[in-house]
Amino acid sequence: MPFSNTHNKYKMNYSDEQEYPDLSKHNNLMAKVLTPEMYANLRDKETSSGFTLDDVIQTGIDTKGHTFIMSVGCVAGDEESYEVFKELLDPVIEERHGGHKPTDKHKTDLDPDKIQGGDDLDPDYVLSSRVRTGRSIRGFCLSPHCSRGERRSVENLAVEALSSLDGEFNGKYYALRNMTEEDQQQLIDDHFLFDKPVSPLLLASGMARDWPDARGIWHNDDKTFLVWVNEEDHLRVISMQKGANMKEVFARFCTGLSKIESVFKERGHEFMWNEHLGYILTCPSNLGTGLRAGVHVKLTNLSKHESFDKILNKLRLQRRGTGGVDTAAVDGVYDISNADRLGFSEVELVQMVVDGVKLLIEMEKCLEAGQSIDDLMPEQK
Ligand code: ADP
Ligand code: MG
Repeated sequence: MPFSNTHNKYKMNYSDEQEYPDLSKHNNLMAKVLTPEMYANLRDKETSSGFTLDDVIQTGIDTKGHTFIMSVGCVAGDEESYEVFKELLDPVIEERHGGHKPTDKHKTDLDPDKIQGGDDLDPDYVLSSRVRTGRSIRGFCLSPHCSRGERRSVENLAVEALSSLDGEFNGKYYALRNMTEEDQQQLIDDHFLFDKPVSPLLLASGMARDWPDARGIWHNDDKTFLVWVNEEDHLRVISMQKGANMKEVFARFCTGLSKIESVFKERGHEFMWNEHLGYILTCPSNLGTGLRAGVHVKLTNLSKHESFDKILNKLRLQRRGTGGVDTAAVDGVYDISNADRLGFSEVELVQMVVDGVKLLIEMEKCLEAGQSIDDLMPEQK
């Protein structure tokens, strides 16, 4: 598996046909959208920082598809990538984000008081709750393309900004390079820290270059508010806790996130954002809110039901294993989260998860009691 992209100018000595990737066995959105004509049209373009079409698509060439999720198969190397390569990225975004058109605008709503319920999920089924998003700092390249110096600057900015938080958000930064192997593994096993760079997405896109340089985790004293530095995105902001109180988790998420945004602003740094795409992140699947609100929930019976995936689809939810995106479920416990990121506000997405998970638990209880769930089948959201 390659670790990096090739910035090879000699490739222009070869024709479009000679350079065109073999996508015949692929199942990802890039492979669906890319055509030889589009490739010919875009292959000599680059962003100001030098990101090319081949860099955008390499991850989707080297990883044909994902087991459960229709992956996008492409990444951005900087904010400009979404503009320079829009001929490819716009249709990918439209397909991934429920028809979000190039003229559509994205809405942000981080008001936790608007969530209905969320403190009423059944704790016998919901083991833990989590909300995360990503943020990118304007003016720096994104992880597939950033240099060591850029990455270290992002780390320094993050550590400085986060050290000014107080109260519930008082915390400390732990650089990966200073952590023992055991401490790192413990944080991963406890679901606080990103996995080592084993994911094909991270490896094939070039995001794992120089690992573990300038990567780390900041968290508050209670480990309920965490920031990953320089994994897939410059910043991943996470609120989580054991139990079923998604309302509380989302409220802490909103407060902490707005505090972080203010301290970055005070220091003269904006997050990458525009009206059409919302917050700009490395993976086109995360544009918009970048928000994934999810619970670890025990669905022993429902997960064996033939309609499980259909039900999740109708509720606009996604399933993963509990060890992260590349893992399988263990003992019927799944990570159930919103499938959308763009075109819905943060409040709408969290509401979808709260309502959807409530229904899934109701179904699970019916199946436990040997009853049919036919009457509970949801409409397409
Ligand atoms: P993402 O990249 O969306 O943050 P991943 O699927 O890569 O999520 O998982 C990252 C880590 O977060 C994993 O260790 C996973 O177990 C943990 N995690 C995700 N959702 C939850 C949850 N609801 N409760 C506890 N841990 C979670
Ligand atoms: Mg991830």
